[in-house]
Order: sequence, then C-alpha cells, then structure tokens
Amino acid sequence: MSGVYGFTHRRSSGVSGGPYAEANLATHVGDLAEAVAENRRRFADRRGVASDRVVWMDQVHGAAVAVVDGPRNEPPVADALVTASPGLVLAVLVADCVPVVLLGDDVVGVAHAGRRGAAAGVVLRTVEAMRELGATAIDANLGPAICGDCYEVPAQMQHEVDTDLPGSACSTRGGTPGLDLRAGLARQLEGLGIATQVSPTCTAESPHLFSHRRDGVTGRQAAYAMLG
Ligand SMILES: [Zn+2]
Repeated sequence: MSGVYGFTHRRSSGVSGGPYAEANLATHVGDLAEAVAENRRRFADRRGVASDRVVWMDQVHGAAVAVVDGPRNEPPVADALVTASPGLVLAVLVADCVPVVLLGDDVVGVAHAGRRGAAAGVVLRTVEAMRELGATAIDANLGPAICGDCYEVPAQMQHEVDTDLPGSACSTRGGTPGLDLRAGLARQLEGLGIATQVSPTCTAESPHLFSHRRDGVTGRQAAYAMLG
C-alpha cells in the first residue's frame, strides 16, 4: 500500500462565510456548525470516503499521538494521528502551525506542529508510533505554515524553542528574533533518517490560506494522509 496525502486551502469546496470563507474545517473557531459540517462532508467526498472515515482531532498543542484503526465517535484529544488501516483519512487542522504528513510503508501519520507541540516533540513521537507499527522507510512532508520571515517572537521564547528544536531560530524580515519551525523540524526529521520535503508557502503571506497571526479570527485548513 502507498499513502496519499494533500493540503486544503480557503477556496477548497466550502460554504462558510465572513472570516471563515470558504472552506473552514474547524469547529472551534466560531464558525456556524452547519457550515463546518457541510465543509467536512465535501472534504470527505473529495477524498472518496464516507464522512465517518475521516478522523479529526481535538488539538491541544501537546505531543500526544493517537493510534487509530477505525472511525471514532469523538475526536481523540491529541496532536498527531497514526494508522495502519487503509481507507481512513487522518486530518490535522492548521492556520500557521506546521502540518506534518508522514508516509511510511503501510503506516501513515499526521501531526500538528505549532511552536509548543514542535518543541514538545510531537513529530518525534509520531515517528516513534509509526515505527512501533512496523514502518521502516518514512518520508515527511511539511506543508504551508508561517515562515521565519514573518514569525516574530520574543528573544527568550526564541531561545527556549531553539533549545528544544535546534535550527528553528532565525531573524525575521525586520531583523527581529524569529522562528522557522519548518527548518527546525526538517533538521530533526533528517536526524532520524527521514527524507523531508518542505513547502515554500507561507500562510501569513498567502491570501488563499487561513492565517491566525495575520487575521486573528479565521478558519483552519487541513492536511491529510490516507493509506490507499
Ligand atoms: Zn512569511
């Protein structure tokens, strides 16, 4: 089996309005529940699965990984999902945080790697969970996220994150302390022997993507992976 994966954007098929237009997939951001339900139904449709075959998460900026093998009534409280079951779509919601897709032989995973989760090791733990399920060769794909030019943080925070995730410290466009989480994550993954592709796209600079830092009240796009 091989993994399929992808990333949605604001103009993926959806019915949300205002700051959530059009294809917000998150239930926790203030959008109408009926609109999100319809957007999620369309998301599942486009992947060719029934809605209950998509596993979402209750994301908490932590490092917990949920191993799933079938539909869940309630989304697991976790920031990463791993499965060895074909036809199950694992979805992660983001709007600046790094969406991480991991494709193994017969095992796939996704992770939500924002500043806190990335520093707490959510991607390391996802790789561990996949290897426990038998994955040997794993490829990683880091999707659209806020870039180091845009992601300004206090110097102390930059130092703390770079201590936990070396390679993530950078300077912003304005010359202030910044974080490039994808650079840190790529270094971490390559240290694990995992070939990593990094999207050049910055959410804060791309009007077709949701960006929490740019817009405050906004929706979430998804990254997903499935064994096909
Ligand atoms: Zn940027």
